[in-house]
Amino acid sequence: MAKNIQAIRGMRDILPDQTPLWQLFEDRVRSVLAGYGYSEIRMPVLEMTDLFKRSIGEVTDIVEKEMYTFDDRNGDSLTLRPEGTAGCVRAGIEHGLFYNQVQRLWYQGPMFRHERPQKGRFRQFNQIGVETYGMDGPDIDLEVVLITNRIWKSLGLDGLELQINTLGTPEERVVYRQQLVEYLSASKEQLDEESLRRLETNPLRILDSKNPDMQDLISGAPSLMDYLGDESRAHFTALCDGLERAGVAYVVNPRLVRGLDYYSRTVFEWVTDQLGAQGTVCAGGRYDGLVEQLGGRSTPAIGFAMGVERLISLLEQTDTASQTANIHAYMVLVGEEPQRQGLILAEQLRDQIPGLRLLTNCGGGSFKSQFKKADRSGAGYALVIGEDELNRGVAGVKPLRDKGEQQEIALDKLGDFFS
Ligand code: ATP
Ligand code: MG
Repeated sequence: MAKNIQAIRGMRDILPDQTPLWQLFEDRVRSVLAGYGYSEIRMPVLEMTDLFKRSIGEVTDIVEKEMYTFDDRNGDSLTLRPEGTAGCVRAGIEHGLFYNQVQRLWYQGPMFRHERPQKGRFRQFNQIGVETYGMDGPDIDLEVVLITNRIWKSLGLDGLELQINTLGTPEERVVYRQQLVEYLSASKEQLDEESLRRLETNPLRILDSKNPDMQDLISGAPSLMDYLGDESRAHFTALCDGLERAGVAYVVNPRLVRGLDYYSRTVFEWVTDQLGAQGTVCAGGRYDGLVEQLGGRSTPAIGFAMGVERLISLLEQTDTASQTANIHAYMVLVGEEPQRQGLILAEQLRDQIPGLRLLTNCGGGSFKSQFKKADRSGAGYALVIGEDELNRGVAGVKPLRDKGEQQEIALDKLGDFFS
């Protein structure tokens, strides 16, 4: 017999016992974003490959080795999106969203990267991201960070650490880059193979290396902070001030450089030590040059993306996980006539009780076997309807989660009971 086909490595099914927590997560995030007046944008999962090459950068990990790229039947090179920012900018330019207006947007959906699958790292994973356009001051940087902070609060997540840094402007980085390359070149023998390559292509990324043998070298490197002009410095100080006034704790991490080329000035990450090596749950920053780089009019921008799988793992360890919505009731139908009427009765109850989550027993079965199903469904109550109950317009209501006797309630009074 042929072997069963399995899901592609690194691509997971989210099974029905997990989706309630995902939905809770998504609902809470959506409601926080609504509270700040952000609007959702939905982009395709496929884009022209050039979009990512031109935005993320040719010499980044993502473009060099992580993209799912293929030629379609017309011979166009397409790529499954590895992140959402590039597509969002593309869409904004295409639809004129950036002309003389500010935008506060968010998106959600699967991203694709051909990485080595491990805990917290998948080949298809989900992000919820925020992107804002047309605002260049530190105030919007603060707003964006405050949103993330409120999201953690609404989810009952604590113990996350906010790390911030500034990358300055591209001009400031050119000068710094020279100094850094000089410093690192003087100790070439301490660089690993990857870093030697990056020395030519993307030296700032060397600061991000996790190689323990290189940490001494890295901590002695010149700091970008020392190469900032007055404006970049003032921008960063204003963000720090705002965070202090808002009571949000942060640490300045001068080694925080982010993997994508398009960042400028503010960058930040939220990290946890509860997930092992994959500790960054949210990352973002300012990318003032990207819209113009992709052919639009120069437009300042800042955004972030959350790694949903990693946040769900954290949520699983909290009380929030038990707050997912359960089924209210399971209708047990005993006898021929109740079974014939069951689905109709259930319709009437749904008409009568908005928001009622009701399961109806289908396929018959003995009282005992139906009760077992009711119990396994996770419902709070069994609604027992036999011939006698049907004739009198009542249901036997038996608690399934808590102790308690079965009581009889008129069908048209069930609304009061479940509200
Ligand atoms: P990492 O350093 O973990 O590879 P990254 O810098 O590549 O992260 P970003 O491109 O900034 O990640 O994406 C934002 C967030 O999306 C990350 O902080 C992380 O939470 C999540 N993320 C990124 N790649 C993956 C992946 N392969 N699997 C699961 N989540 C991911
Ligand atoms: Mg990565």
